[in-house]
Amino acid sequence: MHHFKYHNNVLHVEDVDIINIAKDIGTPFYCYSTATLERHYSVLMKAFSNQNSLICYAVKANSNQAVLATIARLGAGMDVVSVGELRRARAVGVPADKIIFAGVGKTRDEMTYALREHILGFNVESTEELEALSSVAVELGEIARVAIRVNPDVDARTHAKISTGKSNDKFGVPFSSALSIYNEAGRLPGIIVNGIHMHIGSQITSLAPFREAFNLMGQLTKNLRHAGHKIQHLDIGGGLGVPYLKNGDLPPSPEDYAAIVRQTIGDLGVKVILEPGRMIAANAGVLVTRVIFVKRTETKLFTVVDAAMNDLIRPTLYDADHEIWPVSESLSTNVNVLQDVVGPICETGDYLAQNRYLPVFRSGDLMAVLTAGAYGAVMASTYNSRLMIPEILVKENMFAVVRPRPTYDHLIGLDCLPSWLS
Ligand SMILES: *Cc1c(COP(=O)(O)O)cnc(C)c1O
Repeated sequence: MHHFKYHNNVLHVEDVDIINIAKDIGTPFYCYSTATLERHYSVLMKAFSNQNSLICYAVKANSNQAVLATIARLGAGMDVVSVGELRRARAVGVPADKIIFAGVGKTRDEMTYALREHILGFNVESTEELEALSSVAVELGEIARVAIRVNPDVDARTHAKISTGKSNDKFGVPFSSALSIYNEAGRLPGIIVNGIHMHIGSQITSLAPFREAFNLMGQLTKNLRHAGHKIQHLDIGGGLGVPYLKNGDLPPSPEDYAAIVRQTIGDLGVKVILEPGRMIAANAGVLVTRVIFVKRTETKLFTVVDAAMNDLIRPTLYDADHEIWPVSESLSTNVNVLQDVVGPICETGDYLAQNRYLPVFRSGDLMAVLTAGAYGAVMASTYNSRLMIPEILVKENMFAVVRPRPTYDHLIGLDCLPSWLS
């Protein structure tokens, strides 16, 4: 569910008219809905309210400070994968003891920073990392709380680039060697291993892979406890999918997901940590773009818009099908025509939609690319020397620019000439 709807024939975000934002800010821009962000967090929280749990929002999905602040005010913790994200979470006041640090390649500098902040815990992915973290902690006179990320070799049945729980993915330690790695970790002086971490992938739309993975986690918890390890929390990762196209795969409901967690690991007396990213942010954002030209070739109709793959890379990177709505509802009564929606970048992969039946747009029309709140703005680049696009946050009838459009001076001024050229 989300808060993007037509009123008086114009697409609104909550009570704000998108045409008005476009007049004020120019296009393209990302626009997020506070009510949608809050709703997604609350639905998940409610589904887990009868279990000892902590929701750590995966910052990488959308790390804008205003988005983080909105979610943090509801009591969320955060899951970070770099010191940059850790700093972002701390900057909006997320308590350090609600922050989990994940990722396959943490540097010693990052470990040092996080240890000094006294974060809730590290999700560690290899024996090399365990040893490094222990030695950094000893140097600092700190103790690192650790969950080891175990790779359950489960097929999440999602796009290859966002599947993370198969044995040939780079993530975690193999399930079969988990016990011996926990034993090794138990002997290291700078760390306490008190949890297990799993994250099998993203945009998962069936419960079966979750059930399989959580069952394995439950089994492993018992084995580790039997070997003397005090396992107090299970971090079950993120990965719950969202619907991208109206007739696409429907993801499981948070209630059904919570029920699976209860059935598989509910009686172990552990705290359950969740790391949702996409299911909180994806549906809460749209990308608004303006049609520049409508180009007809002998075989195809191309609608050329002012947003491009550098602004939203998901269609070309993950074959993602984002729904597209005209901002003027009257256009949707037109006959839909097969077309590609493409950006101005000099790459064939620069498209927002391919072979899609959409109304025939004219130059100047606005369109909204839906479900763009997660892995959208955070993955943007300035390729082709295009300016990063602004981000807008709406709350009821108010909107605010939460990241302004930079100027060309700013973009070009990031470079500097060496002495021999200046
Ligand atoms: C990316 C990631 C998440 C969030 O995944 P979503 O699919 O956005 O919910 C959670 N945990 C880890 C370790 C991740 O890498």
